[in-house]
Amino acid sequence: MKRLLLLGAGHSHLAVLQALAAGPWAGVHATLVSPQRHQIYTGMLPGWAAGHYALDECRIDLLPLVRDGHIEWLQRSAAAIEADARQVRLDDGHVLGYDVLSVDVGSVSPCDAIDGAAEHALALRPLERLVAQWDRVARSAARGEAVVVVGGGAGGAELAMALRHRLPSRAPVVLVSGGQGPVPGYPPATRRRVRQQLERLGVACHDAACTHIGPRELALSTGALLQHGVVLLAVGAAAPPWLRASGLKLTHDGFIATGATLQSVSHPEVFAAGDVATRIDCPHPKSGVYAVRAGPPLARNLHAWLEGRVPHRYRPQRRSLNLLSCGERYAIASWGRWCWAGRWVWRWKDRIDRAFVERHAATGRAAGR
Ligand SMILES: Cc1cc2nc3c(=O)[nH]c(=O)nc-3n(C[C@H](O)[C@H](O)[C@H](O)COP(=O)(O)OP(=O)(O)OC[C@H]3O[C@@H](n4cnc5c(N)ncnc54)[C@H](O)[C@@H]3O)c2cc1C
Repeated sequence: MKRLLLLGAGHSHLAVLQALAAGPWAGVHATLVSPQRHQIYTGMLPGWAAGHYALDECRIDLLPLVRDGHIEWLQRSAAAIEADARQVRLDDGHVLGYDVLSVDVGSVSPCDAIDGAAEHALALRPLERLVAQWDRVARSAARGEAVVVVGGGAGGAELAMALRHRLPSRAPVVLVSGGQGPVPGYPPATRRRVRQQLERLGVACHDAACTHIGPRELALSTGALLQHGVVLLAVGAAAPPWLRASGLKLTHDGFIATGATLQSVSHPEVFAAGDVATRIDCPHPKSGVYAVRAGPPLARNLHAWLEGRVPHRYRPQRRSLNLLSCGERYAIASWGRWCWAGRWVWRWKDRIDRAFVERHAATGRAAGR
C-alpha cells in the first residue's frame, strides 16, 4: 500500500476527499490530519456574522467524506514536516511516514504584525476560535462599546459591514483599513462601491495604519487613539511558522513554493494548494476562489503520482470573480475592471455558496448509499 497523507481539510482538499469518497484509489491508504470535524466555508462566514446563516449552513461535515473514502482521520494538527525523512510530526508527538504528502492547512493570522495584537485582538484565524469567541463581540456591542476591525481587505470590509448590519446601532463599528483605504487590491469601480456601502451602512472608516493595540484603546499612524471593546484582526494571511524547519523550498515569506503540477519545487512527492502554497511560476492572490479551483487538479495529480503517471500542469485563471457581501442581503460583484451591485448579486452569491456546501454534503450521502 502507498501511504497518502493529507494535512488539513481546506478548500482544495475537499475535492481530494470527494474524489476518494467517489471511488477507492487502488493500493492507496489515505490518512487525513485535521483538528476538527467541520470545515468552515469562508465565503459564507460574513453572512453568518450578519445573521443570514446558521453555522451548520456554512460548514462541511468531513465525517461522511472520510468514512466513505475509507480515509483514516486523525483529529490532530501537524506540528512539523521533515521533508527529507518523508515524515510529519503531530501536535501529540506522533510521527507519521508518507509516500505522498499533500498540504492544505491554509494560512494563519499575522498576530505579530501589530504591537499588542497577540494579547488584545481577536484574530480571524483559526476560524473555529473566532467562532467560539464570537460571544465576546456581541457582549461588548451590547454594552455600547466600539467593535474595531483592523484590516481593510475583502474579509475585513465584509466583516465590518456584517457587524454593522447585525449589532445594535449604539455600538460603533469601525474599520481601520491602512493607508490605502478599503479593498486596496481591487479595481477603482469596486473600491468606490465598497466605500459607498460602508458609508451608507454607517461603518466609520479610518484610512490609516494601526500601530498599537492596547486593552481598551488602539493607536493609529495619524496619532489618533480609538476606544474599543473588541478588536478583530483581519490583516491578511501569513504562512504557518512551523513550515520554516520543514526542509521544503519556501518563498521569502514562508509559503510552500510549488510549480505547475502543484508539487513542491524541492520535493516532488509533496503537493500543496490553497493559501499555504505559492505558485512561483504564476503567483495569484491567496483566496478561497483559487483554493477551490485548485482542488480537482490536485486530486487528479495526486492520483496520477500515486499510480506512477505523469501529473498534469494546471494553470489557474488569470482573474477571478469576487463576490463581496455587504451586511444586508446586498452584494458587490467584481470581475476584472467591471463591477455590479445589488440584491440580485447577493442572491447569486447565496446560490453559488449554498451549492458548494451542498455538493460536498451530497457526495458524502451518495457515496454512503
Ligand atoms: C472572513 C473571511 C472571509 C473570506 N471571504 C472570502 C471570499 O468571499 N472569497 C474568497 O475567495 N476568499 C475569501 N476568504 C479567503 C479564504 O478564506 C482563504 O483564501 C481560503 O480559506 C483558503 O483556503 P485553504 O484551503 O488554503 O485553507 P483553509 O480554508 O483555511 O483550510 C485549512 C484547513 O486546515 C486546517 N489546519 C490548519 N492548520 C493545520 C495543521 N497544522 N494541521 C492540520 N490541519 C490544519 C484548518 O483547521 C482548516 O480546516 C475569506 C477569508 C476570511 C478570513
